[in-house]
Amino acid sequence: QEAHAAELERTFIAIKPDGVQRGLISEIVSRFERKGYKLVAIKLIVPSKEFAQKHYHDLKDRPFFNGLCDFLSSGPVLAMVWEGEGVIKYGRKLIGATDPQKSEPGTIRGDLAIVVVRNIIHGSDGPETAKDEIALWFEPKELVSYTSNAEKWIY
Ligand code: ADP
Ligand code: MG
Repeated sequence: QEAHAAELERTFIAIKPDGVQRGLISEIVSRFERKGYKLVAIKLIVPSKEFAQKHYHDLKDRPFFNGLCDFLSSGPVLAMVWEGEGVIKYGRKLIGATDPQKSEPGTIRGDLAIVVVRNIIHGSDGPETAKDEIALWFEPKELVSYTSNAEKWIY
């Protein structure tokens, strides 16, 4: 059980300022929670623009980069780390396509958003970015390791 828990992968998930302002925190958190993933870190923070630029550094050459960073730093963001088998890839599945017009119904963006610039949630897109984003947003001591009683029924 211990060894198994240590191997579980982690991803960085953030509810962007639009999702927080619209009161969608509990709705979004509950989708990850009900699936069986485990919350290992969570905090509400208003990132600086410089921090937003770090988070989105891969997109620095895109025309929407500046507006995107202004937006991410415009208000509170709910930063989280979720853990579980396949959570990076499946977390992206729960979130849905980047453009909510193309997100399937049943996904977070498909059900709760309409336009790409207000798509309410971020999720790491692979193991490397997950590692980098968790390290950018959280200090190691903020990641809480614990055994949940549900795990033996989930795995
Ligand atoms: P995802 O968030 O699905 O991983 P990307 O990493 O490609 O998508 O883009 C990061 C964020 O940049 C998106 O979630 C969205 O908020 C914004 N974005 C992406 N494409 C566009 C676009 N064409 N115009 C404006 N904003 C965009
Ligand atoms: Mg991305």
